[in-house]
Amino acid sequence: MIPGPSPVVRSIQEQMGRETIAFGDPDFVRDFKEVLLDLRTLWKTEGEVFVVAGSGTLAMEMAIANTTKRGDRVLVVSHGYFGDRFAEICERKGLEVDVLASEWGKAVGASEIEKQLRKNSCAVLTLTHVDTSTGVSAPVSEIGTMMKKFPDTLFILDGVCATAAEPEQVDEMGVDVLLTGSQKAFGVAPGLAMVWAGPKAMKKRGDLGMIPEYYADFDKWLPIMHDPAKYFATPAVNMVWALKESLRIIKEEGLEVRYARHRRNAKAIHAALEKLGFSILADQHVRAVTLSGVLYPDDIDDMRFRTILAQEGVQVAGGLGAYSGKMFRLGHMGNIDEHDLVSVIAAIERTLVSVGRKHELGSGVAELMRNLQ
Ligand code: PMP
Repeated sequence: MIPGPSPVVRSIQEQMGRETIAFGDPDFVRDFKEVLLDLRTLWKTEGEVFVVAGSGTLAMEMAIANTTKRGDRVLVVSHGYFGDRFAEICERKGLEVDVLASEWGKAVGASEIEKQLRKNSCAVLTLTHVDTSTGVSAPVSEIGTMMKKFPDTLFILDGVCATAAEPEQVDEMGVDVLLTGSQKAFGVAPGLAMVWAGPKAMKKRGDLGMIPEYYADFDKWLPIMHDPAKYFATPAVNMVWALKESLRIIKEEGLEVRYARHRRNAKAIHAALEKLGFSILADQHVRAVTLSGVLYPDDIDDMRFRTILAQEGVQVAGGLGAYSGKMFRLGHMGNIDEHDLVSVIAAIERTLVSVGRKHELGSGVAELMRNLQ
């Protein structure tokens, strides 16, 4: 239950375990085309989509590399560790970087971003939909609507910890580049980077001419994304199949239903944890549905708690930065079900008993169940 990779269900594992075939095999070409088409239609965009072997960080790098040139100014909105990563990538690339950072657990509002963009116009705005260090979900729709006032600024959205769990209708929300990875709400193992790029972003790529990046270049991949029978660099055959199975599951469930399930589950987990004496780092109105930053009551030792919880069968991640030792991070995204949630809360209750913290046994599970109704 760490915030990614999330648990991988058997049918997706089976696709990774299949005998690998040639990437030019007509069966694979057909499957890859279907994956690309699904990604376009489900995320409601007329733009391009890229699926390449790599992790979320490569997708971040692709988004920046294909839309900026040395000296361009970028506004990085940061709600934590992964927002800051954008600033690092941009600095490496010789960009002028403005950072608007929130206190951890809070989000920067659209009006603050607007004020900053009026002060200093930027070629690109980067936003992390859900920052995995804090469990804060950014108000993407609101920011996307505001960004319509800045037609010369591209809106890049990091969906690594959000896509397939938090609503992201790319064109409708005014997003120019959406990027994500396979290992979180898609419920696939790590290994695929996905990038959606709208017309404004593709135009910008065209205007840049030759860029220094090779593997990360949209222009190199575009012919393959239009016709996967062509070759640029070897696609991750089994991972593409795994993603195809993930998309089959998503279509069977329905994206809107999947979003609603994540919302309901998150609300129930938050209620159960609060009942047990924990508190949630993110402000109520910006809480992510994919993971929670869970603050300990004062008297609980982080290492002891997480070690016992792992013995009880549930692995969670530690807090980052200033929250190291003060909080744990619990993932609740992808293809997990209510049974998993009940097991997790029950294991947390047993762990509380082991560390000597008194509570009414079963009260967390009861609160969870009440909220799942
Ligand atoms: N952005 C966010 C919001 C993330 O959570 C992560 C990974 N935890 C990344 C970017 C980087 O992705 P990866 O680790 O797959 O390179």
